[in-house]
Amino acid sequence: MLDETRIRLEVIHFVRALRERWLAIPTSELSRFTVHLKGQQGIFKPAELTEALSITTTIDNKHAQDTIEGSRVLYDYVSRDHENDSLKRCAEAELPLIYFLQVKKRPPEYVIFAPVYVVGWNDESRCFIVDLSEQKPGEVVSPAPLRRQLPLPVMRTPESPSEIRELTRSYAVSTVQRRLYEARFRNAVLNAYGERCAVCRLRIRPLLDAAHVVSDREPKPDINVREGIALCATHHRAFDANILRYDDEYRIRVTLPDRAGEGELAMLLAFDGRELHLPSDRDQWPEAL
Ligand SMILES: [Zn+2]
Repeated sequence: MLDETRIRLEVIHFVRALRERWLAIPTSELSRFTVHLKGQQGIFKPAELTEALSITTTIDNKHAQDTIEGSRVLYDYVSRDHENDSLKRCAEAELPLIYFLQVKKRPPEYVIFAPVYVVGWNDESRCFIVDLSEQKPGEVVSPAPLRRQLPLPVMRTPESPSEIRELTRSYAVSTVQRRLYEARFRNAVLNAYGERCAVCRLRIRPLLDAAHVVSDREPKPDINVREGIALCATHHRAFDANILRYDDEYRIRVTLPDRAGEGELAMLLAFDGRELHLPSDRDQWPEAL
């Protein structure tokens, strides 16, 4: 395999592995890789490669909020034409790229899409079309083969290639939208709670989640922090497992299935009956359960 192809694939593998652990990835994690992955903004080419590797949209960019249509984003040409030309060559050669979308300012965090492909450009309006669905252009990815046939009446198999394409497309669109929504939701909720667990006040951002207090609704354009609560990983799991809940007065209620030992006492029962640490703005308090 060509050296450049290998580097490109290794980089993509690296950022996808990071994504398993982070909804939005802090810059500090990105610098662990030997090759530079991104510039401050715009089109970036590391010294090791002949063509562009990544595209970064910052939070201040006018496109940061709303240009993602379905799974595609319009990306304006940058001022340096040789960089635009490099991206055009990436499109022609169908080279996989990484797309970084900043969702938090300082310290910065990014939602990452990889591999993405530039599927077109327009010299008149000076913009690229980047597809974030993480599928090679023109490639029809059929739904994963079933390991075991289940006799479910609701199961429906697509009958024609166009149906498969349509299903794949809608799946890709919702995956892109969901990934963005979750990162922005977490950011907004953690912000409202001063980056603290509402139960134990733990204040280490990588260990904090925005738990959904209402069951998964479709991602909406507007984020409502009342649909979430900031919890550390342990209290989030306990919340989802119905071990830890809150009552109408926002007091913590802990229900354990078995007799409690030292760990359960320290990490769960110690908070039973206490008040949640809620945002100072009452309009941001979570919805009643
Ligand atoms: Zn906690």
